[in-house]
Amino acid sequence: MPQEVDLFVIGAGSGGVRAARIASNHGAKVMIAEEYRIGGTCVIRGCVPKKLLVLASRFADEFEDAAGYGWTVLQPSFSWPVLIANKDREIARLEAAYTANLERAKVAIVKSRAVLADPHTVKLTATGEAIRAKQILIATGGAPSLGKEIEGNEHIISSNEAFHLPELPKRILIQGGGYIAVEFASIFNGLGSDVTLVYRRDNILRGFDDDVRNHLRGEMEKRGIKIVTKAIVEGIEKVDYGLCVMLSDHEDVVVDKVMFATGRRPNVEGLGLEAAGVKLDEKGAIAVNEFSQTSVPHVYAIGDGTDRIALTPVAIREGHAFADTVFGGKPTRVDHRDVATAVFSEPEVGVIGLTEAEACERFDKVDIYKTSFRPMKATLAGRDTRMFMKLVVDGVTDRVVGCHIAGPEAGEMIQLVGVAIKMKATKADFDATMAVHPTAAEELVTMREKAASHVRRPAAAE
Ligand SMILES: Cc1cc2nc3c(=O)[nH]c(=O)nc-3n(C[C@H](O)[C@H](O)[C@H](O)COP(=O)(O)OP(=O)(O)OC[C@H]3O[C@@H](n4cnc5c(N)ncnc54)[C@H](O)[C@@H]3O)c2cc1C
Repeated sequence: MPQEVDLFVIGAGSGGVRAARIASNHGAKVMIAEEYRIGGTCVIRGCVPKKLLVLASRFADEFEDAAGYGWTVLQPSFSWPVLIANKDREIARLEAAYTANLERAKVAIVKSRAVLADPHTVKLTATGEAIRAKQILIATGGAPSLGKEIEGNEHIISSNEAFHLPELPKRILIQGGGYIAVEFASIFNGLGSDVTLVYRRDNILRGFDDDVRNHLRGEMEKRGIKIVTKAIVEGIEKVDYGLCVMLSDHEDVVVDKVMFATGRRPNVEGLGLEAAGVKLDEKGAIAVNEFSQTSVPHVYAIGDGTDRIALTPVAIREGHAFADTVFGGKPTRVDHRDVATAVFSEPEVGVIGLTEAEACERFDKVDIYKTSFRPMKATLAGRDTRMFMKLVVDGVTDRVVGCHIAGPEAGEMIQLVGVAIKMKATKADFDATMAVHPTAAEELVTMREKAASHVRRPAAAE
């Protein structure tokens, strides 16, 4: 007789771990399978190691800026192997902590790939064992998508490999314009690599507010990152002095490493979804309803395997809501509106809500407040950099429907602006909030002059 559980979770990443722990706390007998490392993308090769590399890369500015404040810093030197070894130690510590939390919650952990054999059976490929489950949660996350094969494909690395390079590349070309591409461009630039960013569209960070996109691009270029837009990598050839990258509509670029950050796809291949009757949507992600339920009523899916918002806090929230819904007797929907997010580029970006263009499509009147200024620290340091902030306001109700920040600590600021926006704060509420002086964030509550006011013209009478 196969072993039976109340819940089988496939994938011990952000969403799966949370769902397994909460379901077990609700009294369910839970088993979780992981084919790689406990913690998933975020902990092992995503948010956490990335932020550690971001922090490392920012010391370069600190050393430089210190001089303006009277410090003499002897020639600093950087060791990539030390950084990577220390990062790996921290990731191993976190993996152990995640494992301990699951064990403490009495969740059975299996280190194996798991695939669906039929609607109620999961097969562990490491042992061939079959497990019967009353409920199944697919939390398999996503994987880098490198696009169609090109000549020299074998030379391309993704973010997965970037975390384990044996040495810091002197020259790197990164293809992609999303947040992972710009973050890695900033990391390598800060650590001293010569960076070329190649993106097929006309500007980086598609989907973000246009002012933020232009501001970030300008700041990255000021730091020496070469940004080539409206071009793609057509082929890569190994030459004596590195890798020669052929670009469309642009001269060749010779580098030591080529990284593609060209998007991520849901991890659903070979998962046995057809055997279980689980349907995909038109984008190839697992189709779910507002309770994360798939086309098979006792099979659920959360996180990056579905087409919602591919961020760790969202996957965690979805996992928690699933466990409360199915095992806690508390049907819970996740609110995917107004999710604040940060891009850990240099400078950092923090955004929530609508862009100016989106607001203009949605509202009859839109007021824009924006400012650009030199952060205080840059003054004595003599650094040529500016910070940018923008509020997008529904001109009829006065509600702040979008906030966009680019500059130091933008991620920290947007987390708190997020509370105000979630509470439907108006521009008058922002104005009534006393400034904290001297900070950069005070600009958010002291912008008085409208930079623009868009009024939708009534459709012409027939
Ligand atoms: C470079 C990078 C940087 C990122 N930075 C941020 C950030 O700053 N902030 C943020 O919020 N998000 C960030 N993300 C996104 C974030 O990591 C994901 O949104 C989040 O991890 C999704 O969680 P998940 O539970 O859906 O899946 P994952 O965390 O991806 O976990 C899925 C797990 O399932 C396992 N698995 C897959 N198939 C099987 C199978 N058949 N059997 C057993 N196990 C299986 C995988 O090995 C993996 O461990 C980043 C991602 C990347 C790649």
